[in-house]
Amino acid sequence: MAYDKLLTRNLGKPNSATLDAYQASGGYQGLRRVFKEFTPEKFVEEVKASGLRGRGGAGFPAGVKWGFLPKGLEVPRYLCVNADESEPGTFKDRLLIEQDPHLVLEGIIASAWAIGCHTAFFYIRGEFHKGARIFQKAIEEAYAKGLLGRNILGSGFDLDLIVYRGAGAYICGEETALLESLEGKRGLPRIKPPFPAVVGLYGCPTIINNVETLANVTLIAERGAAWFAAIGRPKNTGPKLFCVSGHVARPGVYEAPLGIPMKELIEMAGGMMRPDRPLKAVVPGGSSMKILPAAKCDVLMDFDSLAAAGTSLGSAGMFVMDSGTCMVDALWNVCRFYAHESCGQCTPCREGTGWFVKILKRLERGDGVPDDVELLDNVASRVEGNTICPFGEAVAWPVQSYVKEFRDEFQEHVTRRGCPLAAAAAR
Ligand code: SF4
Repeated sequence: MAYDKLLTRNLGKPNSATLDAYQASGGYQGLRRVFKEFTPEKFVEEVKASGLRGRGGAGFPAGVKWGFLPKGLEVPRYLCVNADESEPGTFKDRLLIEQDPHLVLEGIIASAWAIGCHTAFFYIRGEFHKGARIFQKAIEEAYAKGLLGRNILGSGFDLDLIVYRGAGAYICGEETALLESLEGKRGLPRIKPPFPAVVGLYGCPTIINNVETLANVTLIAERGAAWFAAIGRPKNTGPKLFCVSGHVARPGVYEAPLGIPMKELIEMAGGMMRPDRPLKAVVPGGSSMKILPAAKCDVLMDFDSLAAAGTSLGSAGMFVMDSGTCMVDALWNVCRFYAHESCGQCTPCREGTGWFVKILKRLERGDGVPDDVELLDNVASRVEGNTICPFGEAVAWPVQSYVKEFRDEFQEHVTRRGCPLAAAAAR
């Protein structure tokens, strides 16, 4: 089925990143409408009514989050845009930043106005050199045309937007580590509470929103909450960008309403890459989410359906794995990443990630011992829930789920003294 292009409507068009092209296709009309027809408080209610849930991973309702800002304090409020997209398998925000930065910028301006923020930060992943350049240029164009700076479009609203480039640490996508990094310190997650909406950047109330979330705010500004809420499924509203990678014929970013069947998304990506290798498993939401074996892949791609299936939509980074994939090797790969990226503050995370790597390496290399599979589970259970930030779960969940769903394959690595799939491939 073909779906409306809403978030991706300008992608691939000539000069899509320029202000002229964006305005020629109706850009910034949503912001004008918001300034004219709403008060900031009413626009917060509009975003709440749209049902928009954050697209960064947690899926928390954006308007509700904005509503957590304390009222009556004579201190600045900040908006930080989380453009640190670092979750393996996730590459949707980069596309928006590079190809349609004004769609994001319009949402930033409307959101900052709604929450009473006059200085916003665009925290972008260090490796996104091209994206940082393009977004900076978009900001300069916006200042030149009165869309940023003083008295935006004659509304009386002032906003400055500053691009801040990270240094390439995965953990800086975690919101409190992002704030630490933005303050010029090491990106170490903070203990919560207090939550950033109350004590955030420089100790002031701060909202942190993902790039795609803010692009969706532009759509709500243009066409309203009722229109937005009619897309997708109840409590899982609006369009979504899905990143499909792995063993599909055409990996890439695909737009569809929330709630599209997973198997339909795989078909949109051209189906399985090798017809002789059927689907074995899918990780639906980036490397930190629980894996679903093929038998559980008749599922809808939205927050609640995937939660009911025992996993999560996360960042909507789908890894599709065919029957030639070794689950021990795949998990080893995931754990190597997390062992490298642990910030080291918490013992269970710092030490546990290293244990996972050592155990998986010896299983894959044929040096595993009979207790290794239980040991993986055991260590994961001691990491989960015992750390400062959700990184603990980000590594424990894949370990627990790969072992649970493919226990026989893990055991086989012990009994056969090595990877049965590698041996089969070598025959
Ligand atoms: Fe750092 Fe890991 Fe603890 Fe998060 S869970 S604070 S990444 S050590």
